[in-house]
Amino acid sequence: MESSPAATVSAGPGLGPAPADLLRRLRARGAADPVTHVERVPARPGVPAPWPSWAPPELRAAFARRGVVAPWQHQAQAATLAYEGEHVVVATGTASGKSLAYQLPALATLLADPRATVLYLAPTKALAADQLRAVAALELEGVRPACYDGDTPRAEREWIRRHSRFVLTNPDMLHHGVLPGHAQWSGFLRRLAYVVIDECHTYRGVFGSHVAHVLRRLRRQCARFGSTPVFVLASATSGDPSTAAGRLTGLPVTAVTEDASPRGGVTFALWEPPLLPPDSGPSTPVPPQSTGDHDDLQQVRRSALRETADLLADTVAEGVRTLAFVRSRKGAEVVAANARRALDDAVPGLGGRVAAYRGGYLREERRELERALLHGDLLGLASTNALELGVDLVGLDAVLICGYPGTRASLWQQAGRAGRSGQEALAVLVARDDPLDTYLVHHPEAIFGAPVEATVLDPANPYVLAPQLACAAFEAPLTPADLALFGDGAKEAVDQLVAAGALRQRPTGWYWRHRERPEVDLRGEGGAPVCVVESSTGRLLGTVDGGSSHFLLHSGAVYLHQGVSYVVDDLDLVDGCALVHAEEPDWSTHARDVTDLSVVSVRSYVDAGPVGMFLGEVDVTSQVVSYQRRRIATGEVIDTRPLDLPARELRTVAVWFTLSPQSLTLAGVQPADVPGALHAAEHAAIGLLPLMATCDRWDIGGLSTAVHPDTEAPTVFVYDGHPGGAGFAERAYGTASAWLRATRDAIAECGCESGCPSCVQSPKCGNGNNPLSKPDAIRVLDVVLANLPE
Ligand SMILES: [Zn+2]
Ligand SMILES: [Zn+2]
Repeated sequence: MESSPAATVSAGPGLGPAPADLLRRLRARGAADPVTHVERVPARPGVPAPWPSWAPPELRAAFARRGVVAPWQHQAQAATLAYEGEHVVVATGTASGKSLAYQLPALATLLADPRATVLYLAPTKALAADQLRAVAALELEGVRPACYDGDTPRAEREWIRRHSRFVLTNPDMLHHGVLPGHAQWSGFLRRLAYVVIDECHTYRGVFGSHVAHVLRRLRRQCARFGSTPVFVLASATSGDPSTAAGRLTGLPVTAVTEDASPRGGVTFALWEPPLLPPDSGPSTPVPPQSTGDHDDLQQVRRSALRETADLLADTVAEGVRTLAFVRSRKGAEVVAANARRALDDAVPGLGGRVAAYRGGYLREERRELERALLHGDLLGLASTNALELGVDLVGLDAVLICGYPGTRASLWQQAGRAGRSGQEALAVLVARDDPLDTYLVHHPEAIFGAPVEATVLDPANPYVLAPQLACAAFEAPLTPADLALFGDGAKEAVDQLVAAGALRQRPTGWYWRHRERPEVDLRGEGGAPVCVVESSTGRLLGTVDGGSSHFLLHSGAVYLHQGVSYVVDDLDLVDGCALVHAEEPDWSTHARDVTDLSVVSVRSYVDAGPVGMFLGEVDVTSQVVSYQRRRIATGEVIDTRPLDLPARELRTVAVWFTLSPQSLTLAGVQPADVPGALHAAEHAAIGLLPLMATCDRWDIGGLSTAVHPDTEAPTVFVYDGHPGGAGFAERAYGTASAWLRATRDAIAECGCESGCPSCVQSPKCGNGNNPLSKPDAIRVLDVVLANLPE
């Protein structure tokens, strides 16, 4: 993507009704009002600030030439903190101009000190290339910005190391190239004034934990060469950005979170599709890889896909330029097809003004769609988030978001597509049948209030710490002073490496014993990643971490890659490779596993009378045993097929709670209903954890039992799905009462009678969602919440 700058397409004048009128008409269609909340997000004028006095005139002039006449207040505030030597994270909304917050102090320093250098880290090469263009366009004397990544020709690398003073790279290159070759970088590192970490919220989970240690290794090399750079981080809005940035860098970081950039007004509606009558059968479309589990089901909601298609048809009929975001490509096509049909039924020919937009189109096809939208020949588009790549559509009147996209950052990014300058726009979030979606449409404060979802990582994970210490030892022998830098567990990890023969202890420190450097993949997750290879061409499509591979890449699995559908022919666990072919079948696949769990140790606990809350290490054995095929159009289960995959062992971190049997009896849960009560609570609790931490369902697992041999009590476990843990269970433990309160409310507020995919059913359940008791799950959680301190 880096070679093709994003095109900007701006639609012509709006023809449709004002957002509030439009919404009124949309919600008046059905018998029951599906709108649970309307938030008027008012237009906000920006709050500009004067240029900081330390910003040199030539830099101000350079920005002015690029159209920046003055910084916004948050930019100036963050820039000045950084310039004064404080580590700072700026965590504000999409398009709030975070880059100026680091460019300003970094470039001012480069201009003031002709020897100083800056290192910029982006999660993707494309973003680094964007930044390179932005910095180069300022045309500042002597800065010589340059990208240094896997694509940089050998011939240019030495020039960059010697002469560039603003090097843009990514954590993988820092890990594989810069740090092991620190001798060649000594001149650059000795003069390093700033380290910029852009989009730092993407460094989460196990990957984030690895990056945290790569940054500690960078700090160690800087210290050896005598520099102490200031870290400036940019993050999407999130809960507690200062703590997350502190964990990532190992330094105290000040957060700037007050967004002073201007934005357009949006009428934002939360929309819950109505429940269908119990006897209407499985006639509900389900998106591919959806979480909907429709077997043994009494009652379901109208599908979010069908609801979105109707909304798209209605807005287009009103002449409103609308973009619908759908999570999968197949889903986007279902939405577009249904909307077209509805429009053609009303006015023959009108359906032609709706199209599906997805990744995989040729460039010309994409540009043609964009042109059609610009000229109004096309009024409605259903898209996967493939639209995020390569095209910047602005000036739409309405955005429909089919299902919560997983994080608040993506939600606002998608909603932000609506609104031309100075005009109000409409955004609608259509809830899918998923506990988190249900919770959000009934708790608008979780979307529009202060964010609670935090970026979590766990640098103390021994499966990350040991290989990272090996890398550090290869770069320079480890000393006792280094152990403090790498944090909790570093001494134990070093002892293990010595015992394993990887390090040798000498009076001067710990030495790497081998000639070759340790092979450590930042994106590997303990188990080696599995390669996804197209059989016919031998092309490597991507990799899936070992932990998810049994779920996502078993024989017969439908695997989506950048919106394109593949079917797995064979999963070869010996070679760590899955052979696939391109195919778009009418069904989606859903793997199921069975799990066994034992407690290894308790790290921390809260004794709350009849309730106990624990955080600790556990051993999990899980086996993917079968998968279901379901029709995409109807959600109907076609069949269940057995799988012959080995069990996987996982030592990880879990949060769990126990209740005394007496407290359950007192609360009205009959002994026979305890398993169903705990099981239902477990499913919903897993579904709600992404509210507190940026994770998805592949990152966590659960187990519940009426009596567990290690706790000797009714127990619900929720564990990190990655070896050594990734911080999710720890975050759950730290926010236990808020997390379980949200879980309880999501179940209680779901309008279904006895449990549905919107509350207590889980798509991953190894027990076929049986037993489940919705009312008793609420009683269980009430007992926990009544006893647990806030
Ligand atoms: Zn329900
Ligand atoms: Zn289950």
